[in-house]
Amino acid sequence: MTNMNEFEKQIEVVIIGAGLSGLRAAHILTRHGVNVKLLEARSRVGGRILTVTTEEGCGAFDLGPTWIWSEHSHVKQLARALDIGLFVQAEVGDAVFDRGPGFPPQRFTPEWHQPPAYRFVGGTAALSSRLQEQLPVGCLGLETSVRRISLVNDYLEILAETNGSSLTYLAQHAIVALPPRLAANTLTFAPALPPAVIEEMRHTQTWMGQAMKAVLVYRTPFWREAGLSGLGVSHPGPIQQFHDATPADQVVGALFGWIGNDSPGRMLSMAERREKIVAQAVRMFGPEANRPIYYTDYNWGNDSLTTPAGQDLLLEEENPRYGHPLLLNPQMAGRLHWAGSEVSPVGGGYLEGAIYIADQVARQVLHHL
Ligand SMILES: Cc1cc2nc3c(=O)[nH]c(=O)nc-3n(C[C@H](O)[C@H](O)[C@H](O)COP(=O)(O)OP(=O)(O)OC[C@H]3O[C@@H](n4cnc5c(N)ncnc54)[C@H](O)[C@@H]3O)c2cc1C
Repeated sequence: MTNMNEFEKQIEVVIIGAGLSGLRAAHILTRHGVNVKLLEARSRVGGRILTVTTEEGCGAFDLGPTWIWSEHSHVKQLARALDIGLFVQAEVGDAVFDRGPGFPPQRFTPEWHQPPAYRFVGGTAALSSRLQEQLPVGCLGLETSVRRISLVNDYLEILAETNGSSLTYLAQHAIVALPPRLAANTLTFAPALPPAVIEEMRHTQTWMGQAMKAVLVYRTPFWREAGLSGLGVSHPGPIQQFHDATPADQVVGALFGWIGNDSPGRMLSMAERREKIVAQAVRMFGPEANRPIYYTDYNWGNDSLTTPAGQDLLLEEENPRYGHPLLLNPQMAGRLHWAGSEVSPVGGGYLEGAIYIADQVARQVLHHL
């Protein structure tokens, strides 16, 4: 059983979820000397940030977020502070339109109306791993799933599970840095949160919670020699849209693609899906696409630490509204705070929102402490 006096002295803030938002909040608070425990259910940090490498360790490829845009000033500032380089998304050349097997691909020159997107050198996980490196020893608890948050006198009691055993943390404040819908579906609050707050949490769509991405890695970005940018659009799929995913050092070439929400390709095994996607890439980019040195894909709709089961039954909006005022107010006598990108009134849903709201909530908690 936890010794309350020990925790009274030690833990000031428990943060739940070590995605970008929770990591950034922990980063700011610990740099101000606050004693923080950051609890993460997975065996890694980053949450929706997931960067993989080939079996030979070549390159870094994002199965989660890839891009930021010029208006995302908080991410750019953090990347600079962490010494992470940015490079422009490759868009030079023609795009191709695919009408399916038996039809030759149609080349077209896209009209760009927006400034290009930027990518992180080393993949987006450069952000999460640099933040992790800067946490004090003992701050991060991996493989620790929070189940219940209770207000007990002047403390919050946070009940978690790790490897089949229960842990209880007592803290002056807690920050829930999960997608709100996931928090409403998987955490218990005692006393119960106001019904309007829970309702809003359940209504808040988890950005990209249904997305599925595939990555194909080649020895070289061979499509560039044919004057193609790597952008490809297809109705029959399985990939709806391809983009160039070649790393900054161009040690290999790569394409990534979005697999449509309704694509029958989602139901296949990874090996069957790979076969169909490689055939599609050959159709669109030429015969060299037949020999990827690496293939992988990831369905975020099956990731229960992002998308609660059954969420796919709910209608998804194209442009959801984030940063609802109800979720900006602390609960449980002002001790329970909210972070996570979907809570942010600025850049909500994006990496920008995850950082913006972490900065805000860390300031809020510092003020209370
Ligand atoms: C496929 C895809 C593509 C995307 N593309 C872009 C893009 O190009 N640009 C962009 O800006 N954004 C993009 N996004 C959105 C971006 O990934 C998110 O805005 C950002 O990563 C959210 O960070 P977060 O910390 O708020 O949440 P999360 O990353 O979801 O972190 C929540 C954390 O909480 C943990 N957790 C869950 N339950 C518990 C529990 N009970 N106890 C303890 N821990 C728990 C989870 O494991 C996770 O680590 C994309 C997302 C996806 C999925």
